[in-house]
Order: sequence, then structure tokens, then C-alpha cells
Amino acid sequence: MAVLINDTCINCGACIEECPVEAIVDEDDNPTGTESYYVYPDKCVECVDHHDEPACATACPTEGCITWDMPFTSDFKDHFNGANYIDGKNYVMDDADAEQPFISSVSDDARKNRENVID
Ligand code: SF4
Ligand code: SF4
Repeated sequence: MAVLINDTCINCGACIEECPVEAIVDEDDNPTGTESYYVYPDKCVECVDHHDEPACATACPTEGCITWDMPFTSDFKDHFNGANYIDGKNYVMDDADAEQPFISSVSDDARKNRENVID
């Protein structure tokens, strides 16, 4: 990942067209079955090389709805694999698809604590 859309999402749709890599799906296509929008962590590039900050979070009108998550890299395989990734589908990561770009200036603590992308 990545960024995470939580259950405060109001399904307004403001984020989906802003994503440069089509990583966001609406509530009908949310693989967790939750009635909210969803970011596929294996597609999200944190807008690196596209925008200065995550465009979904910039567009989102709901404070605290889009938070940081761990980078989708091989270092964090255990976070995303199997039942550990409770907020999303159960990924089985191959090394080949495990190295998405991420914003290195965001701390691991901010990611672990799922701090807001936009304060
Ligand atoms: S951070 Fe950027 S790439 Fe990731 S879901 Fe949001 S808009 Fe898409
Ligand atoms: S912009 Fe925010 S509230 Fe609207 S659909 Fe996207 S995540 Fe949900």
C-alpha cells in the first residue's frame, strides 16, 4: 500500500477518478464485502511520480477516512499475507509484485498507527 480507506467512508466517489493507477474500487467491488470504497494495496503507488501527496486523500471530504498503511513491499509481506491483513483481502505476495513505490518520508510509526494522510 499504501493508503487505507476506513469505515468512515461515505461513498461519495470523489477519490476514485483522482487515482492515477486505478487502485480504488467502489463499494460494489470492495473485495472485503464492506460497504465502502477500497484501495488495492498491490496497485497503490502512493501517487509517487504523479502528485506531491496522495490525490485520493486530497480529494476526500471525510476527515480521517484515508490513512497510511505499510508500504506494499517484500519487507512487509507478513503484514499483507493471509489473515494478518484484516482490513483487506488475503494477499499472497510474490517477490515480483511486492515492490510498489512508497513515500519514504512517512515514518513506520505513522503507518503502523494509521495516521491520517491529510491532517
Ligand atoms: S495514494 Fe494515489 S495511487 Fe494510492 S490509491 Fe490514492 S490516489 Fe491511488
Ligand atoms: S473521497 Fe473519501 S469518503 Fe468519498 S468515496 Fe473516497 S474515501 Fe470514501
